[in-house]
Amino acid sequence: MQTIFEADRHVPVVADADVVVCGGGPGGFAAAIAAARRGADTVMIERYGFMGGLATAGLVAPILGHTASRSDTPIVEGILREITDRMHAINGCPTWDDALQEWGVPFDAEALKVVIDEMCAEAGVRLLLHSYIADALAEDGAIGAVMIENKSGRQAVTGRIFIDATGDADVAFRAGAPTTHGRPFDNKPESMGSFFHLAGFEPLSDERRKEITEQVREEMANGRFRFYNQGFLNSCAYHADHTSANMTRFGGNSDTAEDMTAAELSIRADLWKLIRYLQQNVPEFRSCYVQQTSPQVGPRESRQIVGPYALTGDDVRTGAKFDDAIARGSWWIDIHCPRGLAYPVHICVVECPEGEDCPYWASEHTKMLSRDELHPPDGDWYDIPYRSLLSVGIKNLLSTGRCISATHEGMAGSRVMGTCIAIGQAAGTAAASATSAQVAPGNVNVSDLQGALRADGQLI
Ligand SMILES: Cc1cc2nc3c(=O)[nH]c(=O)nc-3n(C[C@H](O)[C@H](O)[C@H](O)COP(=O)(O)OP(=O)(O)OC[C@H]3O[C@@H](n4cnc5c(N)ncnc54)[C@H](O)[C@@H]3O)c2cc1C
Repeated sequence: MQTIFEADRHVPVVADADVVVCGGGPGGFAAAIAAARRGADTVMIERYGFMGGLATAGLVAPILGHTASRSDTPIVEGILREITDRMHAINGCPTWDDALQEWGVPFDAEALKVVIDEMCAEAGVRLLLHSYIADALAEDGAIGAVMIENKSGRQAVTGRIFIDATGDADVAFRAGAPTTHGRPFDNKPESMGSFFHLAGFEPLSDERRKEITEQVREEMANGRFRFYNQGFLNSCAYHADHTSANMTRFGGNSDTAEDMTAAELSIRADLWKLIRYLQQNVPEFRSCYVQQTSPQVGPRESRQIVGPYALTGDDVRTGAKFDDAIARGSWWIDIHCPRGLAYPVHICVVECPEGEDCPYWASEHTKMLSRDELHPPDGDWYDIPYRSLLSVGIKNLLSTGRCISATHEGMAGSRVMGTCIAIGQAAGTAAASATSAQVAPGNVNVSDLQGALRADGQLI
C-alpha cells in the first residue's frame, strides 16, 4: 500500500484525570459513573454527541441479562436498577419489578440518553463528546495518553488508569496490547445488525398479524428478502406507536471502515426492499414509513483484549463461579452466523442447515454445540472474573463491555447490555480503588472490590 509521511507535532493536553473512560456505551457509562462516585477524577471520551453506545446509537433493546437464566430472579442490580428506576420516572421503561417478569428491560433510547447525562453530571464525570480516540501512547507497558480528534484538531488526554470501553478494544489495540478477533478458525466475528423503527400502519388483529408475518416469511424463503427472521412486527420498543425490529444481518469486521460502509448500505437496501413491498402489497401498510434507523450498524463482536483469564463457552453453559467474581451474566451462547448468512440460517450450531457447505461446519462440527446445550442451567448464572478485565500487555488498562477477555463462545453470552453495565460498574469501581491505593488494577484487593460493589447495590 502507498504511504505518506505525516510530520511529528506537539499536541495540546486538554485533560488529565485519575480515570479515563474511553467510550460511553453500556460498559463505559457505568464505569465512568462508578469511578466518579467512588471519588476518582474521571473523564469520559465519546465519539458521538450522546452516550449509551449501541443502546442509543444502535437502537438495541431490550437490556438483556438482568435475571438468572430462564427465571425472574435478578442477577444484576446496582447502576442497571438505578437507570431503570430513573427511566421509568420519565415514561422511558417499565418498573424494575415489571421488567423482572420480561425477558429484558424494554426502554426508550432518548430516555436513556438523558438519564446517563444526569447521572454523569451528578457524579462529576467530565465529558468530552464528539471526540474520536485515534491513538493510545504506551511506554514501558503503561498508557500515558490517548490521542483524540475533534473539531479543534488533534488533542491528548493523559491519566493514571484507562478503561477501554470502545467495544472494539481500540485503546488496547492502539497501545500495542495483545487482542483477539472473532473465532480462532478464521477470525470471523459474529454478524452485525441494525434495528429500525416502523410506524404509520393500520391497527392489526392477531390473525392478520400472523398472516402478514407468514407472507413475509414465505418471501424470505423465496429469496426476495435477506433477513434472519420474519419478525418485523415483533417489537423490542417500549412505546406502542412504532415497532422496533431486529432482523437485519451483515457478515464483516466492524473495525474496518470498508466493512462498516458495506454493512450500512446493504442493511439499508434490505430494509427498504421490505418497506416498498409492504407499501405496495399489504393494504394496512400502504402509508407505513421508517420512523428511524439506528445511527450506526451494530457490531456484536470484534477485537477483545487478552487478559489473564478468558471467559469460555463452557463457563457460560455450566454457570461457572469464580473467587474473583465481579459481575454476573446469564445470556446464552448466542452466535449469529459469522458469515452473515440469513434465513434459514440463524445461530452457529451443529444443526445449521448449511452443513458441509460451510467451511467452519465442515472442519469443526465434531466440536460444535447443539441448540439445547447453549444455556446456563435454569435459575443459574455465570460469574465474570475480575481477571477478564485486565490486560496481559498494559498494566494500567482495564476493559469493559464487549471487549473483555473472552473466547468467541464466552463473548456470545457476556456481550448483552445488562452484563456489560454490571461489568462497567465493576471496572469503574476497580479503577477508583486502584487510583486511591496507588496500585495497578492487577494489584487491587479483589475482596475489598467485591465489598465495595455489594455496598453499591450490585449482586455478586
Ligand atoms: C444487532 C444487535 C442486536 C443486539 N441485541 C441485543 C439485545 O437485544 N439486548 C442486549 O442486551 N444486547 C444486545 N446486543 C449486544 C449489545 O448491544 C452490545 O454488546 C453492547 O452494547 C456492548 O456494550 P459496550 O459498551 O461494550 O459497546 P458499545 O455499545 O458498542 O459502546 C461503545 C461506545 O464507545 C464509543 N466508541 C467506540 N470507538 C470509539 C473511539 N475510537 N473513540 C471514541 N468513542 C468510541 C461508541 O461510540 C460507543 O458509544 C445486540 C447487538 C447487536 C449488534
